Order: sequence, then structure tokens, then C-alpha cells
Amino acid sequence: MTDRIYMDYAATAPVLPEVLDAMLPFFTGKYGNPSAVYGEGRETRKAVERARRQAAEALGAESSEVCFTSGGSESDNLAIQGTAFALREKGRHIITSRIEHPAVLNTCRWLEKQGFSVTYLGTDAFGTVDPEAVAEAIRPETILVSIMTANNEIGTVEPTAEIGSLCREKGIVFHTDAVQAVGMLPVRADALHADLISLSAHKFHGPKGIGALYIRKGTRLDALVHGGSQERGMRAGTENVPGIVGLGKAIEIAEAEREENAERIRGLRDLLAGKVLAGVPGARLNGHPVKRLPNNCSFSFPGIDGEALLLRLDLAGIAVSGGSACTAGNTEPSHVLQAIGLDGEMLKGSIRMTLGRETTREETEKAAQVLCGIAADLRAMRGL
Ligand SMILES: *Cc1c(COP(=O)(O)O)cnc(C)c1O
Repeated sequence: MTDRIYMDYAATAPVLPEVLDAMLPFFTGKYGNPSAVYGEGRETRKAVERARRQAAEALGAESSEVCFTSGGSESDNLAIQGTAFALREKGRHIITSRIEHPAVLNTCRWLEKQGFSVTYLGTDAFGTVDPEAVAEAIRPETILVSIMTANNEIGTVEPTAEIGSLCREKGIVFHTDAVQAVGMLPVRADALHADLISLSAHKFHGPKGIGALYIRKGTRLDALVHGGSQERGMRAGTENVPGIVGLGKAIEIAEAEREENAERIRGLRDLLAGKVLAGVPGARLNGHPVKRLPNNCSFSFPGIDGEALLLRLDLAGIAVSGGSACTAGNTEPSHVLQAIGLDGEMLKGSIRMTLGRETTREETEKAAQVLCGIAADLRAMRGL
């Protein structure tokens, strides 16, 4: 896909060459099972434990607090189901928000069928969850609060530190899905006051199909995958060694270069937003104006069909995401955009553009210009 302009980093990001280089030996020459006691096994065990230290370091955690999973979705499931089943004798109430990723929302909905009750908090018009609302929703039987660090659709950064510290005070487990935040914001277990933190490598230039859950020491959790004693019994199955090595390398680079990267990307994001808001009459930027991920632009354009805009941009060589549930073949309006109060034309006319490490100024300017042209065209076709 040469000459394309990729603006969907919130969906996934390419593996960095250094990450691939680190992974490659573990597909061929270094193939031992990390559970094996002979040399080949010790070699891969060492690599897995090194990656665990890299992840722990990035999170300000201890190695023993990092559990590798198959990705963000599994980490969310492990955190939520794991807590629910470990603590069900203590209580069966969970608090989350209406703007969480489906991996959190659908896990909670499934738990409702298993006899748990869930409070889905709304947000303000910027997509911010109010810590006061969390405090008010807490009941004696509340066992878990799950609020994301930053939203994948509109980029809003949530007050996780406040929410986490009030959970800590009440002795309630706090989980945060930080999948979008790694590499963009500091994700430190202590600063977030989190007991459980979900990560996914492919969102920070690691490989797909590998993630991690930070599990604060002493947090009680039931496993989802039963079998061998890998991952301290939290996740059975022979480790995805190349993936784990890739995650370790990717998070090390993401953290080392975070500030510089985020600042550069923020500049391009502001350029894009400025040009698009000026170039498309009535355009609006969704999400919080300031407390947002540095790489996210979520736009609504009244009088324009977001789906048509997305397809026209694709034809013009620009990859962006729709405002609907972000999956091909699914045209359900976005639960996040609905939660922040969008309806009608604003809801229908939404797209998400997310920038990243490889995005250039030239691409940003071109994308803004092409988008403004297509938007005018689509409106002209409707006689607006
Ligand atoms: C992408 C994403 C996930 C899912 O991660 P996978 O590794 O694709 O399963 C979960 N939460 C958020 C916020 C995401 O953006």
C-alpha cells in the first residue's frame, strides 16, 4: 500500500523494524519451550523474562506484576471476569462507563447474565467520566470499577488518578484500559492508582495478538485460561515468545521516545484539526478540547454522510475510521458518540483520524486539503 496516507493509528500501528528484528530469531533458531529445563528452554525463558522487565519498567511496576495475554481484549476480560469471579462472595456489583471499549462493555453485559449487576456511568459532552459520579455509584457490594485511561474513539483522557484513588480509599479494585494511552501518555501504575491495567502491543508498534495485564501485587484474580502454570497460573499455555519479545521491545521504545513523539504528533494533529475545522463549515471536533490523546481527531460534519466520506477518502488514498462501531460491515452508530450526546446529522457525519509515528507534515496537509474538497463535493451533491 504505497503512496497511501494512513490515519488510523488508533486501530493499529505497523511493527517497527527494530521490533521485528528482535522477534525474528524466536521463530527459528531460538525455538525452545520456555518451560523446558534444558538450554533451549532457558534461552527463551530468559527472553520472556527480559520482556517482562521491559514492560514492568515502562509501567513503574515489578516484573511479577506483568501477565502476558493475547491482547487488549483478553486483558480486559481477564481483569473484569477475573475480579468478578475471585470476589463474588464479597459482592456482585461493578461500575464502568458507557464509553468503554466493547471488550469491557460486552464482558460486563455477559457478567450481568451470570448474576452480577453493572452500573454504566454516562459522561459529560466531552466524554469525561465524573469521579463524583463514580463515588455516588459505589455500593457496599461494589467489587470493581473499570474506567479507561483514554478513549479510543474521541481521544478524551479520563481522570483515572482521581477515580483510582477513591477506589483505593474504599478498598475497591480499579481496572483501567490503557490500550490507547501507551506511547502517548505516561502510563504508570502508581500515578493511575490502578490495580489492573490493560495493554496491547499492536497499538504501540508491536505485533498483533499479544498484550499484557498489569496485576498489582496482592490483587485477587481468577484465571480465564486453565492449564499449565505459565504466567504464575494466571494464563495457561505455551508463551507466544516472539510476540512477548516484540511487546517488550516495542514498549521500551514507546516509552523512551514518548514525549518527543507525542509532541511532534500533537503539532500535526493541531494542524489537521485547524485546517479541517476552518475548511468545512459547521465541522466540530468531538471529545475534550485539551484533555485528549495527542494523536486523535474525531470530527463531525453536519450534512455529510461519514460513511461516504470515508469511502471517498479511501479512494483518494487516505485511510481513516468511521464514526460507527469501527468495524467493516457494522453500521451501528457509535455508542461513544451517542454517549456524548451526538444525534442525527452529527452522529451520521462522523469520522476519526488518528496520527502516529510515521505521519508527516506533508501527509497531514494533503489529508486536510483532500478532506475539505470531498466534504464540499458531498455537500454540493446533496444540494447544500
Ligand atoms: C484496540 C483496543 C482494545 C482491543 O485490543 P486488541 O489487542 O485488539 O484486542 C481494547 N481497548 C481499547 C481502548 C482499544 O483501543
